[in-house]
Amino acid sequence: MRSIFKEKKMRIIYTVTAGLGVLLLLVGALSASSEEKVEEIFKALQWYGHASFGIHAEKVIYIDPWNIPESAPKADLILVTHSHFDHLSLKDIERLQKEETIIICSEDCVSQLSGEVRGIRPNQEIEIDGVKVQGFPAYNSSKPFHPQEKAWLGYIITVKAIKIYHAGDTDFIPEMDKLKGINIALLPVGGKYTMNAEEAARAADVIKADISIPMHYGGGVIGSEEDALKFKELCHGEVRILVKK
Ligand SMILES: [Zn+2]
Repeated sequence: MRSIFKEKKMRIIYTVTAGLGVLLLLVGALSASSEEKVEEIFKALQWYGHASFGIHAEKVIYIDPWNIPESAPKADLILVTHSHFDHLSLKDIERLQKEETIIICSEDCVSQLSGEVRGIRPNQEIEIDGVKVQGFPAYNSSKPFHPQEKAWLGYIITVKAIKIYHAGDTDFIPEMDKLKGINIALLPVGGKYTMNAEEAARAADVIKADISIPMHYGGGVIGSEEDALKFKELCHGEVRILVKK
C-alpha cells in the first residue's frame, strides 16, 4: 500500500518536473526569438547625429530627420517631435518626401508642412500600414525651452512588435515611470535643452529598455561623445553608442 502511494508520488514529481522543463524550453525559445527581432530592428536603425534617426525596415521611417545624407532612401513615414529647427527641418523633409509619405508631427508643425500631414498630441495613437505610432509627452520640468503646454512629443513606434521609444526634447519626467515593454530607447543626453547624461541614465534605469541609445549630441548644437560615454558608464542596463551615418 505504502509503496504504491510512493510510486504515484514519484510519478507526479516526474511529470511536474518534465512539464516545467518543457515550459522553460518554450520560454527560452520565445525570448530568443524576441531577442533576435530586437537585433533585427536595431540593425535597421540609422543615426544621423543629434535627434535624427532612420528605421530602414520594411517601411522607411525617419524621426526628426536633419542632415540626412543624399544617399538615404525616401520615406514612407516621417515623425517630427516639435517645431525647433534641429527637429523640424523642411529641407530634409522635402527631400525625403514622396507623394505617399505620411508625416506625423506635433500640432504646431502642421501649418509649415505640406502633403499627408497628421498633427497629434501626447498620448494620441495612430496606426499607419501596420506601424503603430503613439505620441508621448516630452517637456522640460526645470528649464524654459520646452514647456509642457506646447504638447510637443516623444514617440513610441511599434515595428514588427518591437517598441522603439524616441524621447524627443525632454527632461526626466514622471510619465516615463509608466513606460512598459520598450525594446529600444533613444534618450537625449546633451544637457542644457534636455536631460544631461546623469539624468538620462536615471531615466534609462526606470524605462528598462533592452537597449538604450544616447542622442541629442554630435550634431553641432549641444553635447559631445563624452556625454554619450558618461551615459553608458552610469547606466545599469545595456547601452549602445551609435556611429553617425
Ligand atoms: Zn527643442
